[in-house]
Amino acid sequence: MARLIIMGPPGSGKGTQAEHIARHFGIPAISTGDLFRAHVRDKTELGLEAGGYMERGEFVPDHVTTDMLKLRMEEADAADGFLLDGYPRTVIQIGALDEMLAARGQPLEAVLALTAADDELLARMLRRAHEQGRSDDTEAVIQRRLELYRDETQPVLTAYSNRGILLPLDGSGERETITTAAIAAVERALAA
Ligand code: ADP
Repeated sequence: MARLIIMGPPGSGKGTQAEHIARHFGIPAISTGDLFRAHVRDKTELGLEAGGYMERGEFVPDHVTTDMLKLRMEEADAADGFLLDGYPRTVIQIGALDEMLAARGQPLEAVLALTAADDELLARMLRRAHEQGRSDDTEAVIQRRLELYRDETQPVLTAYSNRGILLPLDGSGERETITTAAIAAVERALAA
């Protein structure tokens, strides 16, 4: 079973792609953003803590995020394979994930990286704000999320690229075309 990560700037469509790719490989798509949003909705202690960061477009602190992810990864459906969406987002989180996977004796097989131009990302997110009313989809907050992606998450891409497991993918076309390309890229990586 595949152990995968999908990365991409806010608005790149990574959540949607994650769902389709995970379904193809029969693994759960685990989105830290969705996990946080569920906590916020349920008004849990974690949700109250995370909500403030999310509203401002800031990252939730690494240890808080990692503890939440660990619990989710311990669930039965993620025992052999998973597609992580939104984690790791910082270099510190790479180390935490490495430790988690080493303890499970599981290597990471591939990291999909969606790319898209900033003006397209902004346009998509403003459209999504209109449709879904995500409270972190206002222009100022979006700019902050894009900035954090550049400053904190690009180094994560570089690290995985240096490990030779990064699969860059053009995220600007049709949803289905991108899914097909992603699946093909992962299958090539799994066969290599
Ligand atoms: P997007 O990629 O569109 O910004 P996500 O749904 O992946 O949205 O994440 C929403 C918010 O959840 C982030 O802006 C951040 O506040 C928080 N978050 C999600 N994943 C992480 C993470 N790995 N580390 C820190 N914060 C996170």
